[in-house]
Amino acid sequence: MRVDPDDFVVVSHQDVTPSLSHSSPRYLAEINDAIERISDKLWAVNRKIHDNPELGYEEFIAHETLTTFMKSIDGWKVTPSAYGLKTAWVAVWDSGKKGPAISFNCEMDALEGIGHACGHNLIATASVSGALATAEVMKGNRLAGKVVLFGTPAEEGGGGKIKLLQAGAYKDHKVDLNLISHPGITRNHALTRTSAYMELRVEYFGREAHAAASPWLGINALDALITAYNGLSVLRQQTMPGDVIQGNITDGGSRPNIIHAYAAGNFVVRANTQARLDELVVKVRRCFEAGATATGATLKLAPGMAYADHVPNRPLGASYMRYFNALVSPSSPSQMIPADQDLDEMLGRSGASTDQGDVSYAMPSLSPGFAIVPGPQGNGPHSPDFTYASGTRDAFERALRVGKALAGTAMDVLTVDGLLEDVKRAWEDSIIGLSTP
Ligand SMILES: [Zn+2]
Ligand SMILES: [Zn+2]
Repeated sequence: MRVDPDDFVVVSHQDVTPSLSHSSPRYLAEINDAIERISDKLWAVNRKIHDNPELGYEEFIAHETLTTFMKSIDGWKVTPSAYGLKTAWVAVWDSGKKGPAISFNCEMDALEGIGHACGHNLIATASVSGALATAEVMKGNRLAGKVVLFGTPAEEGGGGKIKLLQAGAYKDHKVDLNLISHPGITRNHALTRTSAYMELRVEYFGREAHAAASPWLGINALDALITAYNGLSVLRQQTMPGDVIQGNITDGGSRPNIIHAYAAGNFVVRANTQARLDELVVKVRRCFEAGATATGATLKLAPGMAYADHVPNRPLGASYMRYFNALVSPSSPSQMIPADQDLDEMLGRSGASTDQGDVSYAMPSLSPGFAIVPGPQGNGPHSPDFTYASGTRDAFERALRVGKALAGTAMDVLTVDGLLEDVKRAWEDSIIGLSTP
């Protein structure tokens, strides 16, 4: 897919007044100003993170860069190395008046060997700019409430947000909702639904014997794993759309002339919702048990990391769409987020998984996807091509546009009567709906 870079208009400080007049959302011009004023500083932060990729829980440079930057902004209270995690951090701006608590999550980690191939530097840019603009506009309009920005480590399989949830970070700050975003190369969308996933480490313990002289004395652990693998292959015919079962064998015995006493593998199970994942994992477990029953080997099954699906929130999505589309040139309709939320949700359906899903089960969450211009190969996230694409000035400006729309969403929650209640009601309905079999 080719996106024309000119198909995107950054609304700069100067052109705001004529183009953002009557029909623009109420706080757009103020938000735009607040972000444009600091865009050079944000570009330096974005570059620093992108050019110094770090793995999960080792985001030391990103942590230092972001906390130093947040400390330099008036009125923000910054806690580095928060909740027992060296690279987690929290920054709070409080109006001093009781009101809604809007939170943002800021990701920082990169991928082994290929750098910022998931564009988490852009997520950081969007969340930091969104949080700063929200506080700035709240201050200018004397609105009650507070803004909390969480530095969330290790999204790539490390579950940093789950650790923060378990440590009570979001509860401590009594946040009402959470905002984040994710870059990609497909259409812009407001409503994101990711897959629930669970990792399983599988081990079988058997007994060695001479494979030719006395095989009957042995218990073949590899046979147990192969039996389970074949059982899973059969199960795959009876799965639901969205169910995915994948695995690899890490240990398949030592030599062919010994009955294999040990075999092991890693498996990943995914489904559209957490409730469906729970059902599917029961069936997957039975396949592993079947391998043990058939061979007499002992099974050890250890659940690894697990992420819930991301549950979209329509009232938050509607606000985001309105602000985002106001920042798209009318001559670029393909950049617009559809007003039809069914269509929007279809565009935002992803087989991938994120720990923001767990956040979405704890509180209303908005995680819109935004398109950046792909690299020369046209490849999406988790490829070196996307690492290149995530480092461009154009991608940075698209992340700022997302930051502006996230701040707009926050302003709606803070100022539109009954919206926060609608957001919470929609969240309750969707979580209850998902957990009903
Ligand atoms: Zn990723
Ligand atoms: Zn990512």
